[in-house]
Order: sequence, then C-alpha cells, then structure tokens
Amino acid sequence: MADCIFCQIVEGKLPSKKVYEDEYVYAFHDISPAAPTHILVIPKKHIPTIMDLEEEDQMLAGKVMAAIQKIAKEYHLDEKGFRIVNNVGKEGGQTVYHIHFHLLGGRTLTWPPG
Ligand code: 5GP
Ligand code: ZN
Repeated sequence: MADCIFCQIVEGKLPSKKVYEDEYVYAFHDISPAAPTHILVIPKKHIPTIMDLEEEDQMLAGKVMAAIQKIAKEYHLDEKGFRIVNNVGKEGGQTVYHIHFHLLGGRTLTWPPG
C-alpha cells in the first residue's frame, strides 16, 4: 500500500528504529513512546485491522505473536511483565490502519486504559 506509513517503514522508504525483522514481521520503536519501552510489532503484509485477517493469515498472526515473545525476552520485559495493545477502529483509538501491536513495558501500567 503506497500511502501506508507502516508499509513505507517496512520498505525502508521511511526511517525507523528497527528492533526485529524476519520474513513476515517487522518491529520498531514507536515515535511517541507511552512507556520506557514502546515497540510496534507489525506483519509486513498490509492488513488494515485484525477484522481483516483471513484464514490464510493464521500463520502470519502466529508469527507476529512469536516475534512479540522474542522481543519481550530480548528487552527483559518478561521478568516484570508488560502489555500488548491492539487498537481497532475509531473508538478503539486506531490511527494507523496497518495492523500493529503495541508492546509496552518498563513501568507499572495502570488498568483500565483511558
Ligand atoms: P494506533 O493509535 O494506531 O494504535 O497507534 C499508532 C502508533 O504509531 C502511535 O503510537 C504512533 O505514535 C505511532 N506512529 C505513527 N507514525 C509513526 C511513524 O512514522 N514512526 C513510528 N516509529 N511510529 C509512528
Ligand atoms: Zn501498510
């Protein structure tokens, strides 16, 4: 998707602070961190929201979760705990329509979210 900023980040057309990459997944630091560690984990494939996932994307969704697990270990977030957030649609607070999981950690996170 030419006009998607996260596709442009995956393609290297926009800069990002890369954290992780494999054949299916890309992860990078959020430009406006909401916690000491705030990483966005995305499938390389352009899919607007989790509601657009199809059966053929099941392996991809698993790859994203596997990457989150690896990154959480690498950043030692698994020791104290962390949060994964996926905002969906307008009321969910989604602003970029390319699936992304926020990986937040490094401080005590409150609940419920705003
Ligand atoms: P959403 O609100 O869609 O769940 O999350 C979008 C996230 O993308 C926000 O946390 C925002 O700070 C981040 N973001 C938006 N544009 C860019 C960008 O160009 N680079 C990076 N690294 N993060 C971005
Ligand atoms: Zn995209």
